[in-house]
Amino acid sequence: MIAFEKALELVLNNSASFGEVTLPLDKAVGRILAEDVFADRDFPPFNRATKDGIAIHYESVSNAFSKFKIQDTAAAGSPQLQLFNTSDCIEVMTGAMVPINCDTVIMYEHLVIESGFATLLKPVKKGQNIHVKGSDEPKGVKVLERGIQISASEIGVLASVGKAVLKVKKNPRISIVSTGDELVNVHEFPKAHQIRKSNSHTLKAALIDKGIASEMVHIPDEKVKTKEVISKLLLTSDVILLSGGVSKGKYDYLPEVFEELNITKVFHKVRQRPGKPFWFGSHEESKTTVFGFPGNPVSTFANFNIYFLPWLDKSLMGVVKKEITVILEEEFENTTDLTRFIRAKLVLKNGKTRAQLIEGNGSGDLTSLTKSDGFLKVPPNKKCIKGAKVSFLPTRRIL
Ligand code: AMP
Ligand code: MG
Repeated sequence: MIAFEKALELVLNNSASFGEVTLPLDKAVGRILAEDVFADRDFPPFNRATKDGIAIHYESVSNAFSKFKIQDTAAAGSPQLQLFNTSDCIEVMTGAMVPINCDTVIMYEHLVIESGFATLLKPVKKGQNIHVKGSDEPKGVKVLERGIQISASEIGVLASVGKAVLKVKKNPRISIVSTGDELVNVHEFPKAHQIRKSNSHTLKAALIDKGIASEMVHIPDEKVKTKEVISKLLLTSDVILLSGGVSKGKYDYLPEVFEELNITKVFHKVRQRPGKPFWFGSHEESKTTVFGFPGNPVSTFANFNIYFLPWLDKSLMGVVKKEITVILEEEFENTTDLTRFIRAKLVLKNGKTRAQLIEGNGSGDLTSLTKSDGFLKVPPNKKCIKGAKVSFLPTRRIL
């Protein structure tokens, strides 16, 4: 059995690559950018009025009550106008090109407009209310770097530089496999000795949250069938996420089936709780990565977050997310030689993020997950006092 840190290191060392795909802009949110993106024009592309009002030639201001004859009106979206007499002005709307011979914009709130003339009510600063051409980013500069995750902010930049289609990292093809003769489908009414499948739905939902589609498959506790299904899935999956069937039980066939199918074991069992019987490996021939999570719902969910999501980040972005630390609201002592993952809820107190422990009833206690925001990671044989900083693995969008 290996330590948690070693297990995570081995998982990350086995990151994979799934290629690239070209997508339309509207399908790209959440994906990882696979190309550098450059400004195709200056940002902004012209001297842009940032207020509705008038544009003037600053030198023509003689005092706070200077009066300007209105020559014309420049609307947003109309070609650039020219101020012919520099002692006159042109009305400009926000987003319009500042006219030739103008260098300053005064907003309507600081003017009186009467009988075709604008009179200033306040002192004016040269260059005010103009968003200068190229002042955000000059043409040709790299505005987005490959490897970043595309959020709504990046979509705006991509749209501005004309990227109607763009290259992103391909998502892995994922199969979710549930195992066990005790499991029935959600719409079925379980007999006394049965329960409904939940892990596959949890995993599918967690993947949807990441924008990744997946297929669900069920395998009964039968060795021949197990081998048959897994060998087929190797041909069609970049990743197989399994729950159950990797512990010491008489019907836990997965480890021997993996071996018979030449799936290389990287490790089996980690000194951690929950999630100790985790099996991890990969199939050289098909390049499929196999995560065999123990079946208890908290174990499956914890290990998906502890191992699979960092593996996915490493595979798609080349890096893993930085660890978050939170302040412990109450003392916790780990008296075991296992790394403990403790369910916790976050609260914001005096501007600081604090963690309250959630009493869970073991690793089968699925409802405790709905009360928690993630897991605190507590190293073996460690006492954490109230107020201690402890690393935290969020399992939902928090705060
Ligand atoms: P196993 O790892 O196969 O020994 O399963 C451990 C426990 O998790 C057993 O109580 C199973 O009934 C339960 N379990 C396994 N798979 C699932 C699943 N997909 N949904 C809910 N519970 C499961
Ligand atoms: Mg089982």
